[in-house]
Amino acid sequence: MTPTPRVRPPGRTSADSRSCFVPLTEARTIAAVRCHGPGDVRVEQLPERAPGPGEVAIEPLAVGVCGTDGHIVGGSFPAARPVVLGHEVCGRVREVGPGVDRLAPGDLVTVEPHDYCTACAYCRLGQEHLCDAKRGYGVRLDGGMTERMVVPARIAYRLPPDTPPWIGALTEPLACCIHGMDQLAPRSGLPVLIYGAGPAGAMMVALARSRGLAPVVVMDPRPDRRDLALRMGADAALDPTDPASEAAARALTDGLGFPYVVDAVGSARLLESAIGMASRGGRILVFGVARPDEEARVRPNEVFARELTIVGAVINPYTHHRAVGMLPTLGLDRLRPAFFPLEKVSQALEAQAVGQADKVFVAPYGVDAARR
Ligand SMILES: [Zn+2]
Ligand SMILES: [Zn+2]
Repeated sequence: MTPTPRVRPPGRTSADSRSCFVPLTEARTIAAVRCHGPGDVRVEQLPERAPGPGEVAIEPLAVGVCGTDGHIVGGSFPAARPVVLGHEVCGRVREVGPGVDRLAPGDLVTVEPHDYCTACAYCRLGQEHLCDAKRGYGVRLDGGMTERMVVPARIAYRLPPDTPPWIGALTEPLACCIHGMDQLAPRSGLPVLIYGAGPAGAMMVALARSRGLAPVVVMDPRPDRRDLALRMGADAALDPTDPASEAAARALTDGLGFPYVVDAVGSARLLESAIGMASRGGRILVFGVARPDEEARVRPNEVFARELTIVGAVINPYTHHRAVGMLPTLGLDRLRPAFFPLEKVSQALEAQAVGQADKVFVAPYGVDAARR
């Protein structure tokens, strides 16, 4: 990654202070993290834009760093170039454009970071998340790692004013987890096995708990993530590198296996393990993002004879509203966050990649504003 230049403090203008003539229409600028290509992330000054009709200008206070950001920077996830990164955004409304009456300056909001064509067959079938031409903020459209983000007011969802902004920024990944749970469609009182206790797996644990699944069993090779799983309410957290772990997990189901299995990592090997750990009639959710070229071995006869269901879940169709509703109920403050200023985005991406904290955030207005 390229070294990041020093960042101008918020609100400064682009006028050169040595200039003797400052035009009346001088453009204000904002700092933003832009990815220009593989490994090329820069903190730059961009012109500030006023919200147009139906738009709001938000000051992002906490922006979650996610695996997708790393994949965009690494070049394996298709994205616009350059693009302002950041799709897990919580911020404060600074300004509203003409015609916006549902939001007001000062409101704390979370952004549902997608734009759909509304005219393709999927959009017309209520499956907008499968839209041929969907564009994600922070991917195809400029995202939230900036001092100011202008978005349509309809994708800004108001949060309770006492929500810590970093918790508010978890609305987007939580909305994805809720869609995953919808796809898994579990019945309460039955066991679930979750592979991976990164931020998504940890939220899956909390959701599984809230849906009455029992026992909730987690597999993760990292001791700190097994601790996190237990903090989030898992009944057992096992190390998959321990040869006895599968038998230990199965013993928690009276030997039947799991009617629900979640791959919150994204790996062909884990899908194979998940199939092996599923009970008859089991449902397996592919939730983590595997490399596009990975292939798993699946025996059709086993899917047939044990009547297995393998389902996917991509992004957050119609679940952002529900995530806002669930946010205060899940105890997500049990996650231990780490915060980085905009100009340290490279360190933030590195911290996310190695899992240095339970969840990593960029804080464009400082740690105190993100944590509150
Ligand atoms: Zn994400
Ligand atoms: Zn569409």
